[in-house]
Amino acid sequence: MTTDTAARALPDQPDGIDEYSSDLPDSHRAAERVGEWIAAWGDGLIDTADGHPLYARDLEALRRAVPAADAYATARRVAAWLATTNGSGRDQQTLQILKVTEEAGEVASAWIGTVGQNPRKGITHTTDDVADELADVVLTALVAIAGLGLDPQRVVGNCVAKVAARLNAAAPSRPHRDEAPLDRPVVDVHLPAADIPA
Ligand SMILES: [Mg+2]
Repeated sequence: MTTDTAARALPDQPDGIDEYSSDLPDSHRAAERVGEWIAAWGDGLIDTADGHPLYARDLEALRRAVPAADAYATARRVAAWLATTNGSGRDQQTLQILKVTEEAGEVASAWIGTVGQNPRKGITHTTDDVADELADVVLTALVAIAGLGLDPQRVVGNCVAKVAARLNAAAPSRPHRDEAPLDRPVVDVHLPAADIPA
């Protein structure tokens, strides 16, 4: 409970939420309020309740997770819109799958532009451009999954769980040469000059 004078004029719950219900506010609007609150509060420890600390960065981490979680809902909306606009069926599903390949091609094009592989064009893209194109691939793939009539969140969740289980089951491997612990110097092999082919 706060004694802030301005807060006394506010309702106990967000707009549109009945105090005696278990309803939650729109996640995007909630994230906006969290962002505004953090901007006013700043960084660091906010409070503790019975020894349980809450930090501003805890709230910021959750705030940033909202758009990512929305990717699934957005993919479902795009798939529904495509079905309404273009119709549904095998042909449309095929085109949505091909769209993933098209977006993957844009990733390759952006990377080529980042390293300046084409001397005539030079450097035309940045790493951020490549990342944006990779994000296009992700969202397009989610739309293609939804276009198959499946829940992209469930499908991706299953995929993530499978990969995580593999990682957890994998025996600890020898560190890569570049990942050698700092207390164990990396041994470089120096060939005598005479052994180096001319
Ligand atoms: Mg793209």
